[in-house]
Amino acid sequence: MIKNKLALFGGKKVRNKDFLNPWFFDKKETKAVLSVLKSNELSGFLAFKGKKFFGGKKVLELESAFEKHYKIKHALAIQSATAGLHAAIAACDLEPGDEVICTPYSMIASATAAIMHNAIPIFADIDPINFNICPKSFKKLINKKTKAIIVVHLFGYPAEMNEIMKIAKDNNIYVIEDCAQAPDALYRNKFVGTIGDIGVFSFNQNKTITCGEGGIVLTNNNELAKRLELIRNHGEVVVDKYPVKSISGIIGYNYRMTEIEAAIALEQFKKLKKLNNHRIRLAKYLTQKLKKFGDLFQLPATGCEKCLNDCKSKHVYFVYPFKYNCKVLNLSRDLFAKALQAEGFPVTIGYLRPIYLEPMYQKLKAYGKKGFPFKGPHISKKIQYKKGIAPVCERMHFKELLFTNICRYPLTEKDMDGFVEAIQKIIKNVDEFKK
Ligand SMILES: *Cc1c(COP(=O)(O)O)cnc(C)c1O
Repeated sequence: MIKNKLALFGGKKVRNKDFLNPWFFDKKETKAVLSVLKSNELSGFLAFKGKKFFGGKKVLELESAFEKHYKIKHALAIQSATAGLHAAIAACDLEPGDEVICTPYSMIASATAAIMHNAIPIFADIDPINFNICPKSFKKLINKKTKAIIVVHLFGYPAEMNEIMKIAKDNNIYVIEDCAQAPDALYRNKFVGTIGDIGVFSFNQNKTITCGEGGIVLTNNNELAKRLELIRNHGEVVVDKYPVKSISGIIGYNYRMTEIEAAIALEQFKKLKKLNNHRIRLAKYLTQKLKKFGDLFQLPATGCEKCLNDCKSKHVYFVYPFKYNCKVLNLSRDLFAKALQAEGFPVTIGYLRPIYLEPMYQKLKAYGKKGFPFKGPHISKKIQYKKGIAPVCERMHFKELLFTNICRYPLTEKDMDGFVEAIQKIIKNVDEFKK
């Protein structure tokens, strides 16, 4: 056997070891959970007028920690980011058939949240450098039905918030920030999630900090905060006791967080800075190493390269995204990625397919058999989600984008070196693909 043969063709892998898992739980979480158990109060919520309407001790503590850190008036713990996005759309009190501008390149909930409130997601295209919603594309889609935009800070990099906020303000559009992948990311020195009307964070098992399932919603707007509290906890039964300007949209879900989740999230939140710094350190190291491959890759946008020196933006590298140029090795992205995977390294081909290609959008089937909410008397034009509506997103997904999740705790520079070595090996042996 040839010593350097690619693992894809039966050669020896560059790496045989599994990657250590990313979770960072220690005595602090254990102690926090036990103390909740001992208190006998696993959830402090009651859907009844009074103090308990707002949740238990740990929930309130978690909320204060977020309010303090993000210098925001209101933080509300919630069951998941999906619940948070739905509650956010409901809080904005949209009419059925109102339009919500969404990015097609995200986790599905970043658009489906609108449908959960009978609003219609309209997909803008993305920016080919940072993969976030493109402000120009957003602007083009605005009409009198447009009431909100859900901006996702994808992969940990902030979207172009200045332009987005300006367009939104000029057109009276709510801005909801989906920060599930970008806790503590900065956009021009401002924390994401504090720039728009509402910011939503996730603590699910696969996020930077986790309590299993959970999330938190931030807002500086008192009226929206009141509505969010009511939506979280069966608000329709107490809405007359906690007055809001309009009772519509207060259908009242159970989106409450348990005390155990809150206790874990609180300990995890204390570790966020350390976990992010770990990601940033390894990502910068990897970028430095990958530069030697020249045009083969386009490496992640970092605040400072894109906006020169004044931007003070911060990428938190939820994953490490990079674009692959198939012309350099005359090898397709997918084959390149399969070769890298075979050498023992996690690399994902594209991300999730453009949201509008999912069957619910293609078949226009959400509620019942007649196409509601995409069709009906509340809709004044034909809604359809054709392939090709977001060509940049499709190009990234189907042709150019790759990402790896190795820039994270508890991995080290040595793990990055292995990744680079595997790429080197593929380049050196690229002729094997021709056989
Ligand atoms: C994970 C994720 C969500 C959903 O979070 P949950 O807490 O699992 O509901 C939403 N948006 C983005 C961008 C995500 O990555």
